[in-house]
Amino acid sequence: MKIKTKLNAGVGLLFFMIIILSSLGGWFIYQLKKDTQNILAANYNTLQYSRNMLLSLEEISTEPFAMSEFQKNLDLQRQNITESGEKEATQNINDHFSELKVDRGNSNIHSEIRKDIAELMQLNMNAIQIKSGIANTTAQNAIAVISVAGTLCFLIAFILMVNLPSNISNPIRELTSSIHQIANRNYRERVHFESNSEFGELARSFNTMAEKLQEYSESRIDKILKGKKRIETLIDNMHDAVIGIDEDRKVLFVNDEAIKISGLKKENFVGKLIQDVAVSNDLVRDLIKEIIDVNHSKNESETLKIFVEGKENYFEKEILDINVIPTGEKESRFIGQVIMLRNITAFKELDLAKTQFIGTVSHEFKTPISSIQMGLQLLENEKVGKLNTEQMKLLKGIDEDTVRLLKITRELLNLAQRESGMMQLNVHPFHISSVIQEVVDTNQSAADEKNIRFKTYIDPQVEKINADEEKIVWVLNNFVSNGIRYSPENSAIEISIDKAGNNSVKFSVADQGAGIEPQFLKQIFTRYFRIPGTKAEGNGLGLSICKDFVEAHGGRISVESKTGQGSVFSFELSS
Ligand code: ADP
Repeated sequence: MKIKTKLNAGVGLLFFMIIILSSLGGWFIYQLKKDTQNILAANYNTLQYSRNMLLSLEEISTEPFAMSEFQKNLDLQRQNITESGEKEATQNINDHFSELKVDRGNSNIHSEIRKDIAELMQLNMNAIQIKSGIANTTAQNAIAVISVAGTLCFLIAFILMVNLPSNISNPIRELTSSIHQIANRNYRERVHFESNSEFGELARSFNTMAEKLQEYSESRIDKILKGKKRIETLIDNMHDAVIGIDEDRKVLFVNDEAIKISGLKKENFVGKLIQDVAVSNDLVRDLIKEIIDVNHSKNESETLKIFVEGKENYFEKEILDINVIPTGEKESRFIGQVIMLRNITAFKELDLAKTQFIGTVSHEFKTPISSIQMGLQLLENEKVGKLNTEQMKLLKGIDEDTVRLLKITRELLNLAQRESGMMQLNVHPFHISSVIQEVVDTNQSAADEKNIRFKTYIDPQVEKINADEEKIVWVLNNFVSNGIRYSPENSAIEISIDKAGNNSVKFSVADQGAGIEPQFLKQIFTRYFRIPGTKAEGNGLGLSICKDFVEAHGGRISVESKTGQGSVFSFELSS
């Protein structure tokens, strides 16, 4: 039954009972009133007339108006006959009164009339008694009926009072608690009051809503699980090793490659703290150095050589922080890290093949270029005949190109040697002054073309140094030739050799060129790097080879520069 109908029925019933109760009360009061009025009209008046007649009778012999008074009350009584026997009694009074009119002084008639009146009064008093009994019964009936109706009313009101509020509040309470459950994402929650009331409809709508939410959430979880599986498959099939850790450094996932190269079992890895795993595994210890020790410097280009299944593999390490912005928040939160080991073995192998190829080609080029140079020398010296000016000019051009070709070939050869790890140092003691002279001589003609002066300074404390002379000359030549190329005309280049510390010698080449902007200083020694916009010819290899040569000696190369004022390239070697 609908709530509205229930309420209407309950209140309506109460209303109906109140009407019945008040009607019954009214009816009984009316009955009682009728009974008393009946006594008043029918019997009280007769007693009143009888009393007046008795009084008049007392005075009839002395007072002339008493006769008429008696007659008046007798007439009134004759019109007020209500009880059985009353008519006869009244008729007796009338008859005796007629006799009295004739003989006023007859005391017998007087006493007869008194007897008649007394009988009349007796009749009416009996009637009053009977009627009062009837009124009493009416009152008792009224009390009984009203009590029954009242009790019925009370019972109905009590039942309504007990049932109706709980009928309304129970479903609301159940619904409220179910809404709380849904708000807490317990989409399996259902309400169970099944009725035809409005609450029943509400419950059905609520259950449909919860069902749809559950369906949606399960399909979302299913989607997320599928997505997770896809990503896991992808990560597992990667040739790069991947290790995921949470913010407390607990290992969340490890792919097959990481398991393969670490030689650990999955169950000894996943779910453990990475520092605990590192205790028994060198590779993991090496990988997490910078995670555990914040002061550990990051070496971005660090290549790890790891033997996997008996074969040399090369990996590049990268550690990525995972930060997320939680829903409703603005600040991003750190939730973990991913350690990646990129497998660069294939690139390494290709690189090695390329280096070997460059090495072979540049080595093969050196002999024919030297023969060309010798031929050119013979032609220039006119050992094989005279040349005209035009031929001489052509020859000079070919000679310059040959020198450039030879320089590139040497650079490539040096590069190949370094990259293939085949660089060999021919270390021996040599005089520094003679080396400086050689460098000056080699670059003099290029400096003259731009009217660039050389200044040299050699610390008297430094005379000889133990190093690969050819390579040191090569590095200094590179510094000086760069200085000439990147300096304006009429400037100066200073080559200085200083004692640095007890056992070290510092070689510096300072120019007055355009200088290098600070953001490029770090990259200047990187292979093939050239400052954007550099116009002079070049391939960006020279300085990287210089770095390799210096480092092969255990030395340190550096650059200082001020834009617009010039640069100082230097290296330090232990003597
Ligand atoms: P290359 O000179 O053949 O390009 P290098 O490795 O010798 O290659 O030099 C790399 C780059 O550094 C050059 O291209 C140039 O932009 C810059 N550089 C080198 N030396 C100087 C210098 N003395 N002054 C200004 N820039 C220089």
